[in-house]
Formats: sequence, structure tokens, C-alpha cells
Amino acid sequence: MADLAHYENKKTTFKQRVQLWLLRHTLSTITTVLGIILTLIIVVTHCLIVLVINKRITYLDMYLPLISTTVFLPCLVVVVNFLYGSIERDREELHSLQKKESALKNSLARTYITIINQREKNCTLSKDHAKLRGTLDSVIEKRNEAETKLDEQVSFFSATIELSPDIIIYRNLEGKIIGCNDNLLRLLGAKSREEVVQLLNSNAQLKSQFFQNDEAVIASRSDCMYETTINGIVYQMRKRPAITPKGAMTAIITYGHDITKLKNEQDLLEKTSREKSTFISTLSHELRTPLNGIVGLSDILLQNGHFHGLDERHLKAINVSAVTLGNIFNDVIDLNKMERRTFVVTEEPVKWPDFIDDLETLATLMTEQKNLSFTFKKSGEIPALIETDPTRLRQILWNLIGNATKFTKKGGVTVEVHNQIVGEQVKVSFVISDTGIGIPQEEHDKIFGLYYQVAGTKQSTGTGIGLHVTRNYVDAFHGTIELESEVGKGTTFTLHFTFAIVPEKHVEEETVNRALRVLLVEDVDLNILVAKTMLEKLGHIVSVAKTGKETLEIFKNGTFDLVLLDMQLPDMNGLQIADHLIADYHSTVPMIALTANVVNTNQVYTDHHIEGVMSKPLTASKLAATLKQYQGKN
Ligand code: ADP
Repeated sequence: MADLAHYENKKTTFKQRVQLWLLRHTLSTITTVLGIILTLIIVVTHCLIVLVINKRITYLDMYLPLISTTVFLPCLVVVVNFLYGSIERDREELHSLQKKESALKNSLARTYITIINQREKNCTLSKDHAKLRGTLDSVIEKRNEAETKLDEQVSFFSATIELSPDIIIYRNLEGKIIGCNDNLLRLLGAKSREEVVQLLNSNAQLKSQFFQNDEAVIASRSDCMYETTINGIVYQMRKRPAITPKGAMTAIITYGHDITKLKNEQDLLEKTSREKSTFISTLSHELRTPLNGIVGLSDILLQNGHFHGLDERHLKAINVSAVTLGNIFNDVIDLNKMERRTFVVTEEPVKWPDFIDDLETLATLMTEQKNLSFTFKKSGEIPALIETDPTRLRQILWNLIGNATKFTKKGGVTVEVHNQIVGEQVKVSFVISDTGIGIPQEEHDKIFGLYYQVAGTKQSTGTGIGLHVTRNYVDAFHGTIELESEVGKGTTFTLHFTFAIVPEKHVEEETVNRALRVLLVEDVDLNILVAKTMLEKLGHIVSVAKTGKETLEIFKNGTFDLVLLDMQLPDMNGLQIADHLIADYHSTVPMIALTANVVNTNQVYTDHHIEGVMSKPLTASKLAATLKQYQGKN
């Protein structure tokens, strides 16, 4: 290639030379001819002038201009030749430079050829060349690898998009659709991407379903998610900005995942859950009314002390069985709340010595039914009033004492309550032990699971939900529960809690014992009988209203210290009555809900200015403890 250039150079020089030669001689000839013509013009002109002036002409007159012109002419030719000679020299110099340049190029080309040849023949290169070659090779190799990887990624990406069960569409930042997958074409009944573009441009709603929130994604450079229904299919749309490693955003990719089935299942599940809650609340209401009667009336009869011997034992059995049944209802209702994540413990001031005494009474009654020995121990300084959720705490203890009694055939049950006051708090430990069948070590964790019962113990009555609910309660109290058990020897459950102590002055206020004027709002005769009898036995004055309308009338015409409000009346519910009392009469009389349906959260009652909640079945002690809080207030 270099030789050819050289040859081309040579060829050019020869051509230029011929041209120069021709130019030079043509110019010489033209100059000579012009000189001759000029000479002749001068001679003729001179002769004519002489002839006019002298009227005659001599040879001298003719030769003189001829000679002078002949001398001038060669001089002119010499000058012209000199000038062109100088131009030619410059040309030659230029040619020589061109030659040198061409030679240099040739030499460089030869060097390149040598290097290439050496590489091809794999000759041994100099150290520097070898290093350079190594670097060059590795750069080329890396580039090849990167290209292969990129190709792989592109084909993988394309395959993923095409095979994806989702619908996928991507657009650039100017809103132009760059691509979409087959699934999207199928969904829209389109044959090509162009058709998809046309469809979306002609249907504003469809376009918005695909591209809504795009601007927000661009602005925030982050993902976004929403649900939309296209052609009857519910899609969960997920958007993601495509950002290069250098941080430049190039496109927005939208994935639509078909969640129709999931949605239907979710709707069904929610409907079932709602129905279950309604069922539980209805059942609870219906069953609690008679249960309330059994617990309340047996309680009253026991307190009257008219029954002795076997009759008294039977009466106690009726009472304990009904309390246990109420306990199971509470577990079921709270389990439902836990499943719906609406379960919360609510704190209220509780007379701690009374609570402990009640626990002893009930545990005594429970163990008596099975002819088991019962030991109750309390230790430490017992504060007068603490903050806790008494219903749930009672529930925990009843579940554990109930199990201890249920799984013990001989021997007995022991309940210990240890109190330790630390500053403004009391650390309380309950230890419930039995000499029953025990629980195998490998079952210790499992028994807290829902519906779990240790194999071989199923012949005993039970639901398998008690311990599960108990552990959830304990967690809600931020307490702990420990289990020690040996098969054939017995079981011990230990609970640890910390409760806040209510300051002393509250207690003093509440120790005043005065008769309260109570408006009892209740429609079921059995419940009225139980509550009225208990209240009157406690020394309170009771007025009864059986409907919402009656309540408002009686309230208007009377003076009351407390309203005990059933939640379900024929014409209104308890919350509506509470609202009326506040709105119509600006009532400041404290209201307490009497409820069989513990599905509502305490917040619902608080929102309607109802101060407390008493769950049915009512017991004399529960009623007395609650009412005492109002006996000191005027
Ligand atoms: P259940 O209604 O069956 O008593 P729980 O959730 O209260 O349901 O208890 C789960 C299981 O744990 C029981 O079925 C029983 O096998 C075992 N269990 C609980 N407490 C005791 C105990 N004190 N002694 C022996 N086994 C017990």
C-alpha cells in the first residue's frame, strides 16, 4: 500500500514536470512572438514618424529601432525564464518534501506491518511491546466478555418479559411507549405494539389505568403500586423507574399482576370473618343471658346461706359450671378479636385485696367440685388499688386454675400470690401448681398452640384454646409465663406481672359506703331479676327501664348516681341511649355498660362517654367492686 503511494507520488512529479516544461516553452515562444510583433510595430511607427517629419526615410532610421528592440527582446526572454526557473525550483523543493513525507509514511507503514506480522507469527516481542500487547489483549477480552454478558442479559430480559404471566409495558420519559409483552397484547386484543399505542391514545381511561402516577415515579425516582381493573381482571400495578448505573433515568416499567383470584378469596375471607364475628356476638348474647341468670341467681342463693350439705354443694357446682362456661365464652370472643387484631387490654383501677379474695373463693369452689385439696398463699405487701384489666387477668388465672383442677385426679391444687412493691409499682407473681398428670417435656411449647391438646388427655373436656389465649393475654400485659412439669407428678405455671399502684387518696375516697340511686336499663326479665336483687342486697336503690324510650322518660323525671346500661334493647342500642342522655339532658351521671357482647373494644364505649364495662354473667362481687368506685363520689 505504501509502495503504491510512492509510485503515485512519482507519477505526479513526472506529470508536473511535463506541464512545467510545456508552460515554460510556451511562454518563451509567446514572449518571442510578442517581441517580434512589438519590434515590427516600433520600427514601422518610427519609420512613419520620420517620414512625416523629414518627408524621407534612411536605412539608419529603420535599423536603429530594430537593433535596440533586438537587444531588449532577449533581455525580456531571459527575465521571463529566470522567473519561471525560480518557480520551478520552488516546485522541486516541494516535490522533494513530498518525497520525504511519503518515505516517512512508508517507513511507518512498514513498522506497523512488522508489528502485525510479529503478532500473527507469535514472535517474541520486546518487553515493552509484550506488556502493551498483554494489556491490549486483556482489554479486548474484557470487552468481549462484557459484550457477551450484555447479549445474555438482553436475551434473558426479553425472554422474561415475553414469558411473564404479568402484563408488562414500558415507556420513555417523554411518554412514548417503547414496548410491551404478548400478555398485554392478548389482554387488549391487539396484534402489535403500534395497535396498543393507538388503543391507549384513543382511550383516556385505559391510558390512565396504565400510566397513572408515572409523573410521581419520575419525580420521586421510586416504585409505586396501585390496583386497577382492566376488562374485568383485577391487576396490582407496580411501577419502577429504569435507572442506569450512572444514575440516569431512561424509562418507566409497569408490571400488572393478576390478583383477581386473591381478591375474591380475600373478599370471601373478610365476609366469612365478619359473619363469624356476628355469629359469635349473637351466640354470646343469646347464651350469656341464661348464663347470667344461672351465675347471678346461684350467687345470690349461696350468699343467702339457706342451703346446706349436699344442696349447697350442688348449688356451688351450678355456680362454678356457669362461671367456667362464661370463661370459655370470653376465651372464644377474645380469640376472635386476636385473629382480627382488634384485641387490646384496657386498664382501670382495681381493688387488689378484693381481687385476690375473689380468686381464692372461686378456686376453692372449683377444687371442691372434684374433692381436691386446695391451698391458697398470699405474701408481701398488698397494695389497695392497682391499674390492670381485671377481666383478662381473671381469665388468665381461671384458665390455669381450671386446667390444674381438670388434669388432677388426686392430691390437690395450690395457688400462691407474691407481691413486692417497688416504688410506684407492684411486682406480682402467681404460682399455680397441681399434683396431676403432668405434661411431657417435648409438649411444653406445643401446648400454647391453638387447639393443641396433649395426646391421651383428649378424653378430658376442653377446647385447646385456653392456653393459647392465656399466652396472648400475658404478652399483652407485658408479663411472662413459665412452665415446669413432670409426667405423673404434676405441673406448675408461674406468672410474673408488674402493675402500677394507684395513689392512696383515690382509695380513701372510694372507701365511703353510700347507697347509690341506680337506673338499670335492661329488657330481659331474668337479667333484671339478677341485677336488681344483687344491687338491692348491696343496699342500692334501683329503678328499671326496659326500653330506650322508657330510659329517657325515667331519667328526665328522676335523679340518679349511676346508669347501668344493657347494650341491646328493643328500640335502641345502649350506645344510642348514652348519646341521647348526653345530648338531650347534658347528663354527667356516670354510665356503665352491661354487656354480653364483648366484641366491641373499650374505645367504642369511651367514645360514647361510657366509663366502664361489666361483662355478663354478673357476679355479686364483680358488681360490688365496680359500684364501690362510685360510692365515694357525689
Ligand atoms: P384445654 O381446653 O384442652 O384445657 P388448653 O389450651 O387450656 O386447652 O390446654 C392445652 C393442653 O395442655 C391440654 O389439653 C392439656 O393436654 C395440657 N395441659 C394444660 N394444663 C395442664 C395441666 N395443668 N396438667 C396437665 N396437662 C395440662
